[in-house]
Amino acid sequence: MSDKNVKDIFSENLRYWMNERGMKQSDLAAGLGISEAAVSFWLSSQKYPSPVKLQMLAEFLKVRKSDLIEDNGHGEAAAEASGREETSQKKDKAPRKVDKSEKLEGVCYDVRGPVLDEANRMIENGTNIIKLNIGNPAPFEFYAPDEVIEDMIRNLRASEGYSDSKGLFSARKAVMQYCQLKKFPNVGINDIYTGNGASELITMAMNGLLNNGDEILVPMPDYPLWTASIKLSGGEPVHYRCDEASNWYPDIADIRKRITDKTRGIVIINPNNPTGALYPVEILQQVADLAREFDLIVFADEIYDRLVMDGKVHVSIASLLPDRLCVTFNGLSKSHKVAGFRVGWMVLSGDKRRYKGYIEGLNLLSSMRLCSNVPGQSIIQTALGGQQVGEQLLVPGGRIFEQREYIYNALNSIPGISATKPDAAFYIFPKIDLKKIPIFDDEQMALDLLKEQHILILQGTAMNWDSPDHFRIVYLPHRRTLEKAVDGMAEFFANYSQE
Ligand code: PLP
Repeated sequence: MSDKNVKDIFSENLRYWMNERGMKQSDLAAGLGISEAAVSFWLSSQKYPSPVKLQMLAEFLKVRKSDLIEDNGHGEAAAEASGREETSQKKDKAPRKVDKSEKLEGVCYDVRGPVLDEANRMIENGTNIIKLNIGNPAPFEFYAPDEVIEDMIRNLRASEGYSDSKGLFSARKAVMQYCQLKKFPNVGINDIYTGNGASELITMAMNGLLNNGDEILVPMPDYPLWTASIKLSGGEPVHYRCDEASNWYPDIADIRKRITDKTRGIVIINPNNPTGALYPVEILQQVADLAREFDLIVFADEIYDRLVMDGKVHVSIASLLPDRLCVTFNGLSKSHKVAGFRVGWMVLSGDKRRYKGYIEGLNLLSSMRLCSNVPGQSIIQTALGGQQVGEQLLVPGGRIFEQREYIYNALNSIPGISATKPDAAFYIFPKIDLKKIPIFDDEQMALDLLKEQHILILQGTAMNWDSPDHFRIVYLPHRRTLEKAVDGMAEFFANYSQE
């Protein structure tokens, strides 16, 4: 009983009162105008309602707020009842309710969470939504270079069978040469693993390393797959601050403060999602020095390294770490606009002598999934050679460049909103001045923006930001769509308050 936290108590009470009132998740969702997924998060103790939602819930269930938030012993009653229910179910052979595994406790990926569920419901009902929520280039008319598509078609017949579990030799050789150009130290063909997107390899890298309670430093804000993968592997994500006042660079003093004897590694997302920051070599050097001082593995997510603007140059942190293990992630989803093909890779570089056990673990996990998709691997060589990236999109007159200029200036002209200019990728992470626009629950704000203006953004807390004062915009849509979105946001924020 003493182990229960507020979310557990709330979820027990909610379950109890839903049962008493004969209500299902769908009744609650319809009654409150929220998604079923949001109710499910409450019932599984993953989320706690905002004060506004709590009041609405109490009114809807015709109970007092204290009936929902105080420990009234409903958990024990429900457990007893469910014990009885189970026995009688066995007798009747009625189907049993199947819950998600306990391993998923605390694992969250709100990029595809309750706000998107609500957007999908609205779309099904015929509403036109402006989607600024997901970094998927193809729906916004960014297409893969023809040569990449032609080569995949050409290689399709030869791609029918499984490949080596780490990937085709030609694909890995191309990655190896790419690493040579970026000055990665000590990378051989066997240090390269292809994956079904970088995503699969991120999960694999965490699963192969972490014991329960091991800590990994993750940026805040983050790309939430990192936090989710660490949790799923039994580890503890420890978020370090990226500093908006310094171009969103990692705050080195904050990182240092969070290192403990359980810290196994540090994640660097460069260029960054969601801030669009590109880290200068001086910052990377300081992170490399910390890795050396505290014996940390560096996990470098560089999926946007070919989408840099303003003539800036991306430096891989691997090039600064000849004497430590660095694990770098990359892929074709963004640079080559083939997110659906699921093509990624992971590279081990630096001094690997002390990491044989970890590498054995990675090899085992890589073999267990047999191989990554082979048609996807067959285009890596073409994609990384020649002129395939579409640099023309990133310079003045190019769509990504011009859309960044527009969104950056337009957001900064909305009263109460300010944004740092991104250097790379296609994300911007604006700040809301909470003194001018009072917000306590940014998921609720995202839902309200969706319902009122039909604009879908991602609230900052979904990227593990610790305050409800940021949101992420993907500026891939055409300028005319961005203009409509900015007009809608200006109107929304001019009148919005959660007070
Ligand atoms: N890493 C970052 C920082 C991302 O933003 C994304 C996708 O948005 C990924 C990894 C996943 O990439 P992939 O499509 O290769 O799985």
